Amino acid sequence: MSDFNRDKLVDGLRKKGIRDERVLKAIAEVHRELFIPAAIKHHAYEDVALPIGQGQTISQPYTVAFMTEALKINEGDSVLEIGTGSGYQAAILINMGVKVFSIERNTELYNKSLKLFDKLGLRVAVRCSDGTLGWNDFAPYNGIIVTAGAPSIPENLKKQLAVGGRLVVPVGDKKSQILKVLTKVEEDRFLTEDIPQFKFVPLIGREGWKE
Ligand code: SAM
Repeated sequence: MSDFNRDKLVDGLRKKGIRDERVLKAIAEVHRELFIPAAIKHHAYEDVALPIGQGQTISQPYTVAFMTEALKINEGDSVLEIGTGSGYQAAILINMGVKVFSIERNTELYNKSLKLFDKLGLRVAVRCSDGTLGWNDFAPYNGIIVTAGAPSIPENLKKQLAVGGRLVVPVGDKKSQILKVLTKVEEDRFLTEDIPQFKFVPLIGREGWKE
């Protein structure tokens, strides 16, 4: 896949309002075709969500860029991702010099991403469990990104966020969600920004949707 396709995607994201150069650089450098099934590789640099098996998707690049920008993270920060899926979002964060902890509930996708991270030499800590409960062992995190739509904001994730950190989570019904960006200003106090019109697969779990 040529650099031209990736550059075109980055230009498109810039036009759609993504400003953080570190995010745009990561999108320009991470090869999205490595994270999708071979049969649909020719769609890798279209700004669309694509199927990755198990009824799940790799998010649209604009969504990945928007959510990553909203985290406002710095090199060396630690980020917890809920919903590893294809591993693409985690690879973007790694490219930005972030320590990534990622949780996937689907065993097949978990095993696949584990192998892929190993093959690509990406140091992502991955766990197969219910991400609505977070990952307390490595908390607090400077950023938490939830890549599936939740019925409400999981309390565990709010607790595991560092003061000054941001939690980016889509919340709504199963059809459409609002992207919530919470900034933890002090223990138990959050500032919330709502960004409308995002569409995600459901977050399933104890503090998510029931199967
Ligand atoms: N970040 C992913 C990527 O870059 O490909 C996108 C993943 S997809 C939009 C959402 C993922 O969340 C799916 O793989 C799904 O299995 C997973 N998921 C749903 N509920 C979950 C939960 N409670 N804990 C962990 N993963 C969950």
